[in-house]
Amino acid sequence: MKQIMIATGNVNKVKEFKEMLEPMGYEVLCLKDIDKEVEIIENGTTFEENAAIKAKTVSDALGVVAIADDSGLEIDALNKEPGIHSARYLGHDTPYDYKNKVLLQRMEGKTDRTARFVCSIAIAVPNEETRVFTGVMEGEIAREIRGTNGFGYDPIFYIPECGCTSAELTPEQKNAVSHRGKATEKFLTFFEEYEKTH
Ligand code: IMP
Repeated sequence: MKQIMIATGNVNKVKEFKEMLEPMGYEVLCLKDIDKEVEIIENGTTFEENAAIKAKTVSDALGVVAIADDSGLEIDALNKEPGIHSARYLGHDTPYDYKNKVLLQRMEGKTDRTARFVCSIAIAVPNEETRVFTGVMEGEIAREIRGTNGFGYDPIFYIPECGCTSAELTPEQKNAVSHRGKATEKFLTFFEEYEKTH
């Protein structure tokens, strides 16, 4: 069976990739499944670069096909913060309720409330160029915390076309419009072709 390594220790990400790739006949592994330590220095300046660095580092170290993703929230009025630092903004383990309140405070009085979620998925294949697929969901920073679905910054991310925050969408509704849904769709279109030739 063909193997694919997901370059993450995040169990939720591994689960999502398993659901996608196992029906296509792949054995999906993650860094926790192997003995070897792989040091990843995530020093890119964009989501694309960081996703590519993670996938390529793992592919090179283990000689396997590796997939990685990187995502986050960009707020225009805050100089695109928290951006690539979204997960560690105000501390990795700080509750999002607090992070979201701080961002709403920082947005007080700002007229430009535009923001976007970005997700990049990279695939590194030994001896081939690393490819990256990016999806974007445009929106605005809400005036207040709303909704309990989703995770992270969803309760403060207002989507004008939906008339609600992304934390008020069901998982299926969010997936249909989200940055991750769009990046995944692009990745799968590529992967279906890739499969025929590898
Ligand atoms: P990473 O991709 O694991 O580095 O982390 C991405 C971080 O961006 C998450 O921990 C969240 O803070 C934020 N983020 C990314 N996608 C979403 C989303 O769909 N909803 C809410 N927050 C998100």
